[in-house]
Amino acid sequence: MPQRLPLPVLPGGHAAYEKKEKCAVFGVWGTSHPARVSYLGLYAQQHRGQESAGIAVTDGRRLEGQTGMGLVAEVFTPDSLAKLESKGSKAAIGHCRYSTAGGSLSCNAQPLLESYIGGQVAVAHNGNLINAEALRIRFEEAGHLFHTTSDTEVIIHLLASPAQQKAIDPLAETLRHLQGAFSLVFLFNDRIEACRDPWGWRPLVIGQLEDGGYVVASETVALDVVGATLIREVEPGEIVRIDDTGLTSRTFAPPAQRMAYCVFEHVYFANPASMIFGQNVQATRERLGERLAAEAPVKADFVVPMPDSGRSAALGYARASGLPYREAIVPNRYVGRTFIKPTQDQRNAAVRLKLNVIADLVRGRSLVIVDDSIVRGTTTRAKMNQLKAAGAKEIHLRISCPPIRHPCYFGVDFAERTQLVANTRNVEQIREFLGVDSLHYLSLEGLLACMDRKGSDYCTACYSGEYRLDPEHPVTESVIEPAQLRIFG
Ligand code: AMP
Repeated sequence: MPQRLPLPVLPGGHAAYEKKEKCAVFGVWGTSHPARVSYLGLYAQQHRGQESAGIAVTDGRRLEGQTGMGLVAEVFTPDSLAKLESKGSKAAIGHCRYSTAGGSLSCNAQPLLESYIGGQVAVAHNGNLINAEALRIRFEEAGHLFHTTSDTEVIIHLLASPAQQKAIDPLAETLRHLQGAFSLVFLFNDRIEACRDPWGWRPLVIGQLEDGGYVVASETVALDVVGATLIREVEPGEIVRIDDTGLTSRTFAPPAQRMAYCVFEHVYFANPASMIFGQNVQATRERLGERLAAEAPVKADFVVPMPDSGRSAALGYARASGLPYREAIVPNRYVGRTFIKPTQDQRNAAVRLKLNVIADLVRGRSLVIVDDSIVRGTTTRAKMNQLKAAGAKEIHLRISCPPIRHPCYFGVDFAERTQLVANTRNVEQIREFLGVDSLHYLSLEGLLACMDRKGSDYCTACYSGEYRLDPEHPVTESVIEPAQLRIFG
C-alpha cells in the first residue's frame, strides 16, 4: 500500500505530482510462481528504471504487494518472493520506476494498490499523463485524498468514480479521460488488463509461456528472459484482458489520427535486444550510425564508441565509413546509480570513475567519438576532457540523433528546458562548450529514414518541439471518442 507522507504542495494547496517517469511494466497470468516470474521480468527491464521496484500478486481472492526503493535485486529477496506466493498466488504485475533524485519518494513506488467500490486493484504505469494535474485538482476539490505524487493515482480515482462505475465498461471509460502516454497493466482478483494509449507512445507486448500462461511487458527482452514467446504488441487504443478463460481484446478508442511512437526508445532508452514498435533496436541503432557516417564523414584514425549508449551506432558508423572500430573507453560496470554527486567536482570524479580512457590507444590520435545523445552536456563535456587529458590529438564527436531542444512530457526524463544544452545554443556553440574539434548530429530526416514505420508516426517533440498533445492545455473530460467495443479471441 502507498505510505502516507507529507507531499510537496502546489500554489492553491494542491499536492504537486512527480512528472518525470520512465518505467517498465510487467504482468503474468497462469503460472504457479508469478512473483518469481515477475522478478525476472523486471530484472530484464531494469534499464528502464532504477529508482524503485514493486510486485503485486493475487491468489484469486486477495491482492498483496511489496514495493521498495532501489533496484529489483535490492527490493526483493528469495524469502520475500516466496512470501508473496505463499498463499498459492496465480498472477502478478510488476513495475520498475525511474525519476530524478529530487523527486524520489517511496510512496510513488508502483504497483499502486488500492481498494475501491469494484474491489481491489493494482496498477503499473509506463508513460506520463499531461492531464493528471488537472484531473487531480478536480478530484481534490471534490474531497478526494491522494496518497502519492505520481500521475498514475488519478487513474484509480477515475476508475472508482460513480460516472465510470455506471458505465458498461468502467475501465474503457476511465482510459478515455486520459491524455498522454500510458502503457498500463492492471491486476484485479479475476484478471489482468493491459492497455496502451491511442497514440502508442510507449511499447507494450504480449507473450505466451510454454505452459500456456500469458505475459505482458514493456519490452520483448523480458519475454525472452522468462521463456515466453512474443505474440504481438498491445495495439494503441486496445485493452487486452487475460483471465482463466484466456486472452480477449477490446478497443477503448480508435488509434490516434497522428500516432506518436517515441523515437527516443530506439535512440537510447530500450535494450538493444528488444523489438520496439516491431523493429529491433540494435539493428536500428547500427543503421543510425551508418546514416551518421554518410551525413557527417571525417578523416580520423579510428571510431570509438561511448560506452555503452553509443556502441551500436559506432559500429554502424565504422562499417559505413571504413574506419577501424576501437574500444578505447572502458566502462566500470560497478558504479551504481546511487553515486551521489552534489558538487561539480564530485560529478567529474564520478565520470572518471565510470569510464577509463586507454591512454596508449588515444594518445596522438584523431578520434571519431560516437554517442547516442546529448541532454545537458555536462557528462559529455567531462568525457571529452578525459579524452583530451589522455592525449587525443583531435576529437570529432558524432551524435546519432538531432539536438534535444525541448523537454519530454510523455515519459522520458529530460531536463528542464533551460538545462538542455541545445535549447539556447546552436551546434557551433555546443561544440565550443564541449571543447571538441568538430561536432555533428544526425538530422531528423536521417533519423526517421532509419525507422520502419512512416516518419510522421513517431513523436519527435524533443527535437522539433512539435507536441502531438499540447501539454499547456490538458483536458479532463472524456477526450477520446468512444470506440465501438470490439471483442475478439
Ligand atoms: P549529458 O552530456 O549530461 O547530456 O549526458 C549525455 C549522456 O546521457 C549520453 O551518453 C546519453 O546516452 C545519456 N542519456 C540520454 N538520455 C538520457 C536520459 N533520459 N536519462 C539519463 N541519461 C540519458
